[in-house]
Amino acid sequence: MLGWGVVGASTIAREWMIPAIEAKSDSRVVAVTGSDPARVADYAAANGVPRAHASLDALVSDPDVDCVYISTTNEQHFAQAMAAARAGKHVLCEKPLALSVAEAREMVAACEAAGVAMGTNHHLRNAASHRAIRRLIQDGAIGRPLAARVFHAVFLPPHLQGWRIERPEAGGGVILDITVHDTDTLRFALGDADVTEVTAMTASQGMASGGLEDAVMGVMRFDNGVLAQFHDAFTIRHGGTGIEFHGEEGSILARDVMTQRPIGTIVLRRDGVEEIVEFAPDNLYERSVAAFNAAAQGTGRPAATGLDGVKSLAVALAVRQSAAEGRAVAVDYGV
Ligand code: NDP
Repeated sequence: MLGWGVVGASTIAREWMIPAIEAKSDSRVVAVTGSDPARVADYAAANGVPRAHASLDALVSDPDVDCVYISTTNEQHFAQAMAAARAGKHVLCEKPLALSVAEAREMVAACEAAGVAMGTNHHLRNAASHRAIRRLIQDGAIGRPLAARVFHAVFLPPHLQGWRIERPEAGGGVILDITVHDTDTLRFALGDADVTEVTAMTASQGMASGGLEDAVMGVMRFDNGVLAQFHDAFTIRHGGTGIEFHGEEGSILARDVMTQRPIGTIVLRRDGVEEIVEFAPDNLYERSVAAFNAAAQGTGRPAATGLDGVKSLAVALAVRQSAAEGRAVAVDYGV
């Protein structure tokens, strides 16, 4: 039985990750910590977490904690992951892993040195829909992939607005929030292809302040020749989400799949015929936890590794730089 310590009394932990850890027969949540001890105590009580620790040190020193799940604001991930690794705990960290590629790489190296598992909580690659798409492409259903399109422009609900739209120093903005997920999902579907170059434009369309963007559109060039177009936003109320892959012999058109919930539809179109692709929906976060539990037990690997998180961050930072400088930018993976 693995004991999980939750760092960050956050919405994502409350809504998805604590229930997912508890749903697995080989794990349970034993403790939580955050910056405000009184709020953490209330959060622990409200979410059935046995222990509320007053500090990160106390949580990573807790002998019942084997795995640490980090879901604080983005600027805190680095120091918290480093502390967990130093204490010999397995680390599952939210995206973006950090605010710089150098920090993200240091986190991965620290986990390697400590001999602990490290994962990035890119939930979408755990979706049955995206796994089905990856399989289709792998099996040659659309022939050689040439192009992709992601539309992941949503309306950020009021309870999530806060730091995401107000605090650049906390790693706010739509690029670090959503473009990282697009990158990881595209890489996953394309058999772990990597982005070499990006170009992008951003906008502030009335929600974000402090110089942060709440919309971005751009293009990614992959090392297998695929060009991918993306649109991410906090400001689009009625668009719905989706992802498409276009190959020499067919196209995959998926709707409502860039989401936390196991929903959506996939259509495979080739030779003038449209086929609905069936998939058995399952809980994305439970699958993420199951894979991480296996990694911590030495019998598997995280769904998205630390290196996957380094890569999605590197692409997002290149997107931000491209928009700021008005030019195409080669992705710097820090190697
Ligand atoms: P929240 O705003 O809910 O929580 C982030 C931090 O804000 C908390 O750790 C807490 O700090 C503080 N906080 C939260 N609520 C309050 C409150 N009522 N009063 C005062 N402080 C509060 O963020 P999210 O859960 O939306 O995101 C957290 C992380 O998870 C981010 O890195 C984000 O990118 C990632 N994320 C990932 C998703 C995925 O599907 N993979 C989905 C959503 C988010 P403290 O703990 O220090 O007290």
